[in-house]
Amino acid sequence: MQTTEQPVLRDIVLIGGGHSHVGVLRRFGMNPEPGVRLTLICHSVDTPYSGMLPGHIAGHYSFDDCHIDLFRLAQFAGARFYHDDVVGLDTANGKVLCRTHPPVGFDVCSINVGSTPQMGRVPGAAAHAVPVKPIPGFNARWLALLARVRQHPGRTTIALVGGGAGGVELTLSMQHRLRAELTALGRNPDDLAFHLFTRDAQVMPTHNPWVRRHFTRVLAQRGVHLHTGAEVVQVGAGCLTTAAGQTVAADEIVWVTQAGGPAWLQGSGLALDAEGFVKVNGHLQTSHPQVFAAGDVCAFGPRPLEKAGVFAVRMGPPLADNLRRAVRGVPLKPYKPQRHWLSLVSTGDRHAVASRGPFGWAGDWVWRWKDHIDRTFMKRFSRFPAMTEMRAARANALVTDLPLSADESTQASAAAAMRCGGCGAKVGATVLQRALGALRPVERSDVLIGLSAPDDAAVVRVPPGKAVVHTVDFFRAFIDDPYVFGQVAANHALGDICAMGGEPQTATAIVTLPPGLEAKVEELLLHLMSGALQVLNAAGCALVGGHTGEGKELALGFAVNGLVDDNLRTVLRKGGMRPGDALILTKPMGTGTLLAACPQAAQLPWFRGRWVTEALGHMVQSSQAGARILSAHGATACTDVTGFGLLGHLVEMTQPSGVDAELWLSALPVLPGAEDCVAAGIRSSLAPANVRLRRALQNPQAFVNHPRYPLLFDPQTAGGLLASVPPAQAQACVAELKAAGYAHTAVIGRVLPQGDAVESVGLVG
Ligand SMILES: Cc1cc2nc3c(=O)[nH]c(=O)nc-3n(C[C@H](O)[C@H](O)[C@H](O)COP(=O)(O)OP(=O)(O)OC[C@H]3O[C@@H](n4cnc5c(N)ncnc54)[C@H](O)[C@@H]3O)c2cc1C
Repeated sequence: MQTTEQPVLRDIVLIGGGHSHVGVLRRFGMNPEPGVRLTLICHSVDTPYSGMLPGHIAGHYSFDDCHIDLFRLAQFAGARFYHDDVVGLDTANGKVLCRTHPPVGFDVCSINVGSTPQMGRVPGAAAHAVPVKPIPGFNARWLALLARVRQHPGRTTIALVGGGAGGVELTLSMQHRLRAELTALGRNPDDLAFHLFTRDAQVMPTHNPWVRRHFTRVLAQRGVHLHTGAEVVQVGAGCLTTAAGQTVAADEIVWVTQAGGPAWLQGSGLALDAEGFVKVNGHLQTSHPQVFAAGDVCAFGPRPLEKAGVFAVRMGPPLADNLRRAVRGVPLKPYKPQRHWLSLVSTGDRHAVASRGPFGWAGDWVWRWKDHIDRTFMKRFSRFPAMTEMRAARANALVTDLPLSADESTQASAAAAMRCGGCGAKVGATVLQRALGALRPVERSDVLIGLSAPDDAAVVRVPPGKAVVHTVDFFRAFIDDPYVFGQVAANHALGDICAMGGEPQTATAIVTLPPGLEAKVEELLLHLMSGALQVLNAAGCALVGGHTGEGKELALGFAVNGLVDDNLRTVLRKGGMRPGDALILTKPMGTGTLLAACPQAAQLPWFRGRWVTEALGHMVQSSQAGARILSAHGATACTDVTGFGLLGHLVEMTQPSGVDAELWLSALPVLPGAEDCVAAGIRSSLAPANVRLRRALQNPQAFVNHPRYPLLFDPQTAGGLLASVPPAQAQACVAELKAAGYAHTAVIGRVLPQGDAVESVGLVG
């Protein structure tokens, strides 16, 4: 969680983590803009660096070698990272529209989302061809294609459509890799045939004649069938047809041409060109003065630019500069693209060709040169300088040079004054009404007085034959995404009700919001509560009230009521385990150590942001269905694994049950990256208190060096259900849980009769 002493006065929202925005983020990280908050919204956590993508396809680079971790970069920049898909832009109201998050407000916004394939223009292409663009998703498509080719019996024919530098480089890289794959499988690499189609008279039309001749020769030497002047006009299952009527059979068809702007820009009101790209002027500013665009998605007004990563990268610094200038309200500076630039295009076999204006060079040394340039570039986005005192001071500086209205100045001063006084006052009624008025809690017939007719307190009926289960949980925000934090906090609070086998009924919220400009506080509250409501509504739990106060840090908690049968027969208790029962855990462990690592992520080159997004995916997964399945399989005891960690919660079950237990460390489901984090000594602040529970272990000395041992003490947020299930039911129960979406569910041990020793839990490796 990033916090500065300064209230947020202006929001810059970056749409897409393309080559220009990574440069913008790095620059803001090096030199923060006081009072300005950056938010990056991107649908991928790992964004590819296009220069190394063909090398990755060829097998020379790993996935991580050629992808920038946007989560870590955002941490370094002090930016919020929203993992989401942008689906629209409301320029009139200054909002970015997302697939899952509520609208994200901006003062200044920038678009760098690359190009989108326009396959709809060629009949059959969308259904039967694999698009290379958008390049961020290409790795998954490539891996699927690789698997198909590996399994394809006999000869495989691959056709690529698009004879630009990308198409040629991709053809040669794919061929290099696939030949190696077939050889490794003991098959004949000559069982591969490649066809490359281009509507132009030659390949790589934007390069000089020497480079074009060179690549034409290389393609011929490699046995690639080159079809020039051959526009593909139709694609079918297993074949494509050119304008001249030639039909070629192909097992795989890869689309490296005809890209345009994304469809969602059409409704944005921004001026677009015929291909749907956003028109920008020489300042990278769109037809809306507060919206900028860079990279492939922009159509540069002063002169046409090639859709190449090199331009997207070069646009980064002037874009960063103009975004600052736009929030400060000072004149923008023009971007002057270079007339000639160096292109380094590889031939797949650690050999490359350099092309610059009329010049060209080729050789293994060019590949080494390219490799050096590319790795140096990537290092700038994987190893970040530590936050210096100077940068921290700048991030926290009291702002003087942002143009604020008189009203905003008053609100900013009030926010600063409240913070100094440590006031816990209530949030203003207008802000509350506007934010909460937009929420639609689920309606229940047993809620007699709730949010739809707010009063001093809610009135709720307990249906006949039912008893109420009460629980409460409260958290400080641990991620810079209030919507997702709201989801996790609500899900965590519901976990106790689910673990008891109860039906969630009502919830009241307690919220702490940092003070700031009213509009910013209102949006924060709306995001926070929208996330929470999404989870509560899905669980059928009505939000019936709450309290919102001001404090230094964002925090959210819920008091939740659930219903159980008043004869308690359906209640899942902690006691009740029986010797012989199987111990089942429904979610992987490790949220504590992963969340503890997050604030330091920028300084941990081995850390991966995708670990966090995967962990959050588990944290927002409801345990409601899981509890029902466990109950249906005769669970004898159940609890949700949270703050006390796996061992702490297991002991809470064994003690009242009067049994011992055996835990199988190798069977423990673990989140990706959790073992890396504990191996690096990263522990949640609660972990040391949990470690005291090791006194419950019979044989800890044999396992202290086991990589999963520390995870026994790792406190979980919205962790899985831990249950004991009769052994005869265990296999079917696990299968049903997995089918219900608890993919990592595992039997992690068994319940034993109580021994004489005080220690109740034995470990098995
Ligand atoms: C095989 C191949 C090889 C290439 N090699 C080179 C090369 O060597 N040198 C070179 O200069 N160029 C090369 N190019 C061209 C290069 O890939 C593009 O010009 C470059 O990627 C464009 O960069 P960008 O920043 O505009 O967008 P991208 O790099 O495509 O980044 C777009 C970002 O926006 C995100 N995004 C997209 N839509 C949304 C949305 N709706 N919501 C949220 N996030 C979104 C994506 O996840 C991604 O992070 C190559 C292209 C191909 C196909």
